[in-house]
Amino acid sequence: MKQFNCGDVVPGCNARFVFDSEAKILESVARHAREDHGLTDIPPQLTEQVRAKIRPAA
Ligand SMILES: [Zn+2]
Repeated sequence: MKQFNCGDVVPGCNARFVFDSEAKILESVARHAREDHGLTDIPPQLTEQVRAKIRPAA
């Protein structure tokens, strides 16, 4: 399993994503960014930041 904490990219956000693949995390984070952060378009740069923070789930 892999995990991503939104707070690593957006300070103060407590959202946490745990999925078995990076693709699923990115998909879910994109939805979260749209619904909770009002980002209708995810810049490639942000996707890279998210990808860089994905860690193996403990
Ligand atoms: Zn967030």
